[in-house]
Parts: sequence; C-alpha cells; structure tokens
Amino acid sequence: CGIVGYIGQASSSREHSALDVLMEGLRRLEYRGYDSAGIAVAADGELYHRKKAGKLANLAEELEGSPVPAAQVGIGHTRWATHGGPTDQNAHPHLADEGRLAMIHNGIIENYAQIKEEMLAAGHTFLSETDTEVAATLLGHIYRHEGEQDLTKSMQLASQRFEGAFTLLAIHVDSPDRVVASRRNSPLVVGVGEGENFLGSDVSGFIDFTRKAIELDQDQVVTITADSIEITDFQGNSAQGKEFTVDWDA
Ligand code: GLU
Repeated sequence: CGIVGYIGQASSSREHSALDVLMEGLRRLEYRGYDSAGIAVAADGELYHRKKAGKLANLAEELEGSPVPAAQVGIGHTRWATHGGPTDQNAHPHLADEGRLAMIHNGIIENYAQIKEEMLAAGHTFLSETDTEVAATLLGHIYRHEGEQDLTKSMQLASQRFEGAFTLLAIHVDSPDRVVASRRNSPLVVGVGEGENFLGSDVSGFIDFTRKAIELDQDQVVTITADSIEITDFQGNSAQGKEFTVDWDA
C-alpha cells in the first residue's frame, strides 16, 4: 500500500542511513492504512530483511531485537493484503534468486496464478500466498536466465509479463548501488536528492528529505543510483517522467 526506496553514498556529507529514511517514509505513509510492514537493505554483499504483521511499531520492535547493519540502499513497504492474509510470512519484502533479491509491491498481479505454475514447473518454491512473491520469483528467474544478470533489464522483461496494477521496487546484492522500480496502473514518484535519490508511492515517502520530484508515466521502469536517474519504457527505450516541485507544507 505504501512504498519507499532509498539509495545514498557513503562519501556524501548529506548521507542518511537507509533504514532511517525508510522508517521515516513509512511513518509518513501510514495515513493510507495498512496491515503489515517490512524493510530490506543490502550491505557487505548480504541482503537483510525484517517484516511483521501489524503496526510499524511491531516492525520497529523487531528491528530493535534483531538489528540490520548500516546500509546505503534499501526498500520499505506497508501492505494492504489482497492475496494471502495479513501474516508475517505474507508481509513484504519477498525474496528471490536464493535470497539475493528483495521486492516490494503495491497493487495486484492479475496473472500471478499462471506465472506461479510456470515457476513451480521450473523448480521454484514459495513461502507465502502472495501474488508479490510470484512476481519476485519471476524477476529472479529472468535475472538468471534472460536478463543477463542486469536488474534493470530483468525488471523491464518481467514487467512485460505482468498484467494488472503494480508499483514494484527491487534491490539485488549484486548491484547494491541501485534501486530499480516499475509501474503500471499504480503510482510511482522519484525524489531527487543530492548524492542520494528516493522513490515513493507518493511524495509523502520522501517529503522530509527533498521536494524535487519526478512523476513516472504509465508503463515505465526507473533505475536510481546515488547520482543518476534513468527512465525507460518496458522495452528499454529511453523515456521521461514529469518533473515538479512539492510545494505543500509537510
Ligand atoms: N497484492 C499484494 C499483496 O497482497 C500487495 C498489496 C498492497 O498493495 O499492499 O501482498
């Protein structure tokens, strides 16, 4: 239901910790309503994720008991369950590619049952009842087999396969310098920083950190690094979003 993404760089003087940015963004997005929350960060060649049913306070408590290392890249999610009940296991992020890739999702992948059959036949297994884990598994599968182990290219190819409504964000331990996102029939906004960039399902996700924003158009993929923002369509052709400045008081 609510989505936040962050990428910074250790050398930046304006540096924030990924976890702080994600938790702040999720707090700002609480007004939308949700039943579960979770985060994933990549650091030192490992992916760390924590997720809990219930309020953000439950996730914060989990993080206190089981902290994640300082990181410069991460994704955060508040879930409003559509496929699978509001449990810890069904909360996002969902992992794929042997725990090396994490994905969060707003919306519904209408053709998830068909993709799930395909993935089961290819030998993949599932831990949740969500459409999102199916999407993550397909992304991981494409990453290994068709996407040249390039997260952006793999997201473009996977997005061509998904029907329905989705805002998807993914990170991979192989490329901890970026967050890759995709959208169809569901909103996605980039927050433009200096030496850091943000993603949000709406500007509330990053309003505490920047007011410069780019709204993505229908059927676009965006890759953010600490100092670049690249937008394409699902075929990989270069594309543009709509730049604007957030002028309301947060
Ligand atoms: N369909 C997904 C799920 O049930 C995402 C729901 C949402 O938008 O939060 O897990």
